[in-house]
Amino acid sequence: MTSEWTWPFSKAYTGTFEEGQQFGNTSYPRGRGYFHDGFDFGSNIYGQGSNVLAIHDGEVIYSGIMGSGLDAVIVLAVPPYQIMYQEFSKSSGDIYVNEGSKVKKGQVIGKLNGSHLHLGFTKKNWQVALGSWDINDGTWLNPISIIQTGLIELPEKPNTNSGGKKMFRFNLKKTNGTTEIWGVWGNKRFHFPTLSAAQFFDKLVKANGGDTNTNNTWAESSEMWGTILAMTDPAQFSTK
Ligand SMILES: [Zn+2]
Repeated sequence: MTSEWTWPFSKAYTGTFEEGQQFGNTSYPRGRGYFHDGFDFGSNIYGQGSNVLAIHDGEVIYSGIMGSGLDAVIVLAVPPYQIMYQEFSKSSGDIYVNEGSKVKKGQVIGKLNGSHLHLGFTKKNWQVALGSWDINDGTWLNPISIIQTGLIELPEKPNTNSGGKKMFRFNLKKTNGTTEIWGVWGNKRFHFPTLSAAQFFDKLVKANGGDTNTNNTWAESSEMWGTILAMTDPAQFSTK
């Protein structure tokens, strides 16, 4: 099974940003405070002139040029979300989809022709949500964690082996001193870039009778993977 989500550019987000801005409270003042209601994908990283992609199958519920600094806007309905692409150009010629179009994940829907693409996620009506553009009242959600969670690829069928040890997550203490969160599902290992992604995995594990004890910790070493292999079925274990 492949994931239902992708990044808005062919180059994946790797955790770095330059002139872009993270979601949430920043040091940059806006309107009534310092809240940034989305994530900016900077052209320094993703490339001026790059194709802007649909991050999920969905329906275009608005496309056009808007005022108030929004510029080129495409709104994609992906229930329960309404996803705003904005500010990626000042020209309607860089918008390739019309209101009412159905789009597929990865489809080219526009072109980056400016300093950045701002991507915003809300579960409200997007026009209503714009009233909260500068305040953190729960209207706008973190695009990065939603996409990263959606990118986790899980096997077609849940693991039905009993014993619980085939599905679990663990903390990996890296040799450089940092800690990463990993999970095991049958013959696959997953690296979780965020705690929210790991917690989403926990829910799936729990729903399928697995072990959600998160106290397992291994130091990074080749023996560590040996321990994991011993806890699962070595014959199935091929994917890192
Ligand atoms: Zn922005």
